[in-house]
Amino acid sequence: MCSATSSVSCTVTDVTVVGGGVAGMVVARRLAMAGRSVTLIEASDHLGGTVSRHTVGDIDLDAGAESFANRGGTVAALAAEIGLGDEVVSPSAAGAWLQPVSGPAVPMPATNLLGIPGTPLAADVIAVIGQRAAIRAELDAIIPSLWASKSLTLGTLVRRRMGSGVLEKLVAPIVHGVHSLHPDDIQLDRAAPGLRAAFAREGSLAAAVRFMRDAAPAGSSIAGIRGGMHRLATELAADLQTYGVDVQLGRTAQPGSIGGTVVMAAPTDPTAGRRIVLATLVVNAPELDSAPRGTGLLVAAGAAGISARALTHSTAKWEWLRERAGGRHVLRLSYDVEPEQLQATALQDASTLLGVRLGDSSVVDFARVEWLRPAASSAGDKIIQVGESVAGSGLAGVIRQAEAAAAELLAG
Ligand SMILES: Cc1cc2nc3c(=O)[nH]c(=O)nc-3n(C[C@H](O)[C@H](O)[C@H](O)COP(=O)(O)OP(=O)(O)OC[C@H]3O[C@@H](n4cnc5c(N)ncnc54)[C@H](O)[C@@H]3O)c2cc1C
Repeated sequence: MCSATSSVSCTVTDVTVVGGGVAGMVVARRLAMAGRSVTLIEASDHLGGTVSRHTVGDIDLDAGAESFANRGGTVAALAAEIGLGDEVVSPSAAGAWLQPVSGPAVPMPATNLLGIPGTPLAADVIAVIGQRAAIRAELDAIIPSLWASKSLTLGTLVRRRMGSGVLEKLVAPIVHGVHSLHPDDIQLDRAAPGLRAAFAREGSLAAAVRFMRDAAPAGSSIAGIRGGMHRLATELAADLQTYGVDVQLGRTAQPGSIGGTVVMAAPTDPTAGRRIVLATLVVNAPELDSAPRGTGLLVAAGAAGISARALTHSTAKWEWLRERAGGRHVLRLSYDVEPEQLQATALQDASTLLGVRLGDSSVVDFARVEWLRPAASSAGDKIIQVGESVAGSGLAGVIRQAEAAAAELLAG
């Protein structure tokens, strides 16, 4: 049986890739570069999937992914290969904030991994979760460590080791911002690759977080591309043309309906997943020049009077965008449940979260985008599957898994 995850060999002379997001494009490009004949089938009228562009207030912006994790150097290596090496940029050092359930917004604790504190009794942790919850979290240092099984969820581990204060007030808002899931609904290995092994080695969760933070390269854990992440999709698409991939847009395919070797780079069940809606506001608001909440905020579930789950102050986060926006500000808010009056609610939420009064007259332009985040799924051993539904959310993991699948196909 030919499978991207099996070691059984398969001869590839002709490959069809279903799905033209980054995962599908990475596989198609790698195979075509090695001389394979590749067809790429994409349901929509453009390539890139969730790495895409829209124009708001005459500014080209990312409509989906707007950064990538530096973890493993995978995305930066691909960017360099396709001519974007000099365009990789770090976000502003201002850092993100957190809006707790009650009380004012606070800066995100300095040493954390997905909100799990490396130092539970640090002042910036206590400011978010309170002293009692911080003392409970510190017990992690003395609770005997047990083997963490592969099926363990992130939520179960954090609750057991550090208590529900850390889980609900710190970890849940961050995990939700990244994965659109509660930590109880995501497996540890999918949410935080490497954390299980570090925990087993270090004996406590806080020590595992400190270990992983120390092992990470200095500087920001994320990066972006000057001009927007959508440039990654544009350059990959150009490479597909260069290497002769037969790209077929506007065609929906199911793996069973195609002969030969098929790589599924799209969710196997297109209806399963969680819908999120993004509201992008371009505003005239000089009060935002000082970036009052750094690069933006993640919002704890149940935060009074706020419907958004996260706000990115994009012009405070990316220097290239600040220059391009010419004094205006770009704010992006995400919603799990779309409010009836999206624009008005986004403006109200932005005012509350940023601590600045933003009136209707400040709005230069507004845009709404809707995405479906795919559920974890597997098409089974018979089908080579790549992309978010098997690799988890995030370009670093998606690209690494797609590269590995292509390498295995070529080696087969
Ligand atoms: C709003 C948002 C913000 C994000 N922000 C970040 C971020 O800042 N950093 C980060 O690293 N990641 C981020 N992500 C996640 C990241 O964008 C994804 O993990 C990654 O782009 C997924 O790539 P993919 O190719 O697996 O899937 P997709 O991008 O979903 O591509 C799948 C493609 O398959 C096509 N397709 C589906 N079904 C079929 C079919 N039957 N036949 C043919 N084609 C089909 C779709 O049209 C689509 O083009 C974000 C995601 C969203 C939605």
